Amino acid sequence: MSIISINPANGSKIKEYTELSSDEVSSKIEQVHLAWKDWRSTSHEKRSQLLNNMAGVLRSRKEELAILMANEMGKPVTQGKAEVDKCAECCEYYALKGPEHLADQLIQTDASKSYASFQPLGVILAVMPWNFPLWQVFRFLAPALAVGNCGILKHASNVPGCALFIEEIVKEAGFPDDVFLTLLISASKVPGIIEHPLVKAVTLTGSTNAGIQVAMKAASVLKKTVLELGGSDAYVVLADANLEEAAQVCVNSRLINSGQSCIAAKRFIVEQSVIEKFTQLFTEKMKAKKMGDPLDPATEIGPQARADLRDELHDQVQRSIAKGAVCILGGEIPPGNNAYYPATILINVKPGVASYSEELFGPVASIISAMDEADAIRIANDSVFGLGSAIFTRDIAKGERIAATELEAGSSFVNAQVRSIPQLPFGGVKTSGYGRELGEFGIREFVNIKTVYVK
Ligand code: NDP
Repeated sequence: MSIISINPANGSKIKEYTELSSDEVSSKIEQVHLAWKDWRSTSHEKRSQLLNNMAGVLRSRKEELAILMANEMGKPVTQGKAEVDKCAECCEYYALKGPEHLADQLIQTDASKSYASFQPLGVILAVMPWNFPLWQVFRFLAPALAVGNCGILKHASNVPGCALFIEEIVKEAGFPDDVFLTLLISASKVPGIIEHPLVKAVTLTGSTNAGIQVAMKAASVLKKTVLELGGSDAYVVLADANLEEAAQVCVNSRLINSGQSCIAAKRFIVEQSVIEKFTQLFTEKMKAKKMGDPLDPATEIGPQARADLRDELHDQVQRSIAKGAVCILGGEIPPGNNAYYPATILINVKPGVASYSEELFGPVASIISAMDEADAIRIANDSVFGLGSAIFTRDIAKGERIAATELEAGSSFVNAQVRSIPQLPFGGVKTSGYGRELGEFGIREFVNIKTVYVK
């Protein structure tokens, strides 16, 4: 079978790659395992130096990477460059903090010395999506290498060029051969890889369905998983919020990566006393965003990553309208052989409407009316997802209380856009997954937390 990359801005074929055979996959896994035997005992100093090199390589190849992402999955180049910078920052973060996060933790017992030590596991499989083709991989890879693990990547089938480029970056940074390899394969080969005895654990970012399939397979062979899945983040706007600022943050969040982010704001839950004003401000700001060629630095919304995903999104919009939602902006597929979808707003979104309960992975906002604060929190939590959430209010103490204790999500931001930050843990609850990436918690997911006891 072939893996084909298609430019979503014009439907043209970029390149066709031959999928690896099962035997080729096995030998690559063995190569990475062999590399791990040395890599596991390298010093923290050496690993940090190489991670810093990798940050330098990323920055020096920023333009090329941004253009490649624009071509393969439609990300506007300005956003692509920012993504490369973020990957470099993540490498630098773990170069600096990795040794501290992995230091032995002395624990007093009846022993003369006892402690927890953080030991690498071996080869980790990363199954990654196309929406942030670099960032999703680097937030796994930087801590994995810092710990002394090695990685194999099964990237999404529409971004093979990005997948191979990442392998090249690791080499160019001076890491030993084979500590990280890309496998150009379809999803059907993933179960066989999970079963491979030299593969020790799996991390997946993607849809809830893919997460469930991978988790079931991994459970059958008792291998640990970290899953970062879909989300339908609620942004709660209370009556006392600064509506102008809130509307801007809400629009920016909804349109991040042309709407295709797990932590994009998807449901806007607004107290009824201010919903009219909020909707007016929100609509003005959505209209002002420029959709166009992802290679144009002025473009803010590119095409969707694939035409089939765009069609699925449009189907969700139409099903929502059929159940009573009202479309006040966008909602129509532009002409041409491409995957564009315009900024779209649905109002009158209520239970039973697709956009109330499903994840809409594109530039479609659902505005939902709440009677009061308690009702808004109830609606925010009325979802199978629990990834990010945000609350907008001028009462900071109230906002912090709601964020910390009331919103059912892996993260809650007050008067700010949810984002992943290298220093902070990132992940979800409910069907948004489990486990954490980034920060101190992320680096400790794929380690043997080993007890050492000396009499
Ligand atoms: P998928 O979840 O299908 O793809 C993500 C990754 O998982 C890809 O590498 C894919 O490979 C792989 N994969 C898919 N199915 C399996 C499986 N059964 N076993 C092992 N690996 C698998 O996402 P899609 O690209 O189909 O997008 C569909 C929806 O997923 C989106 O609309 C969105 O809701 C959600 N999504 C969420 C993301 C997030 O950041 N949380 C990112 C991307 C999508 P392959 O490409 O070869 O199928």
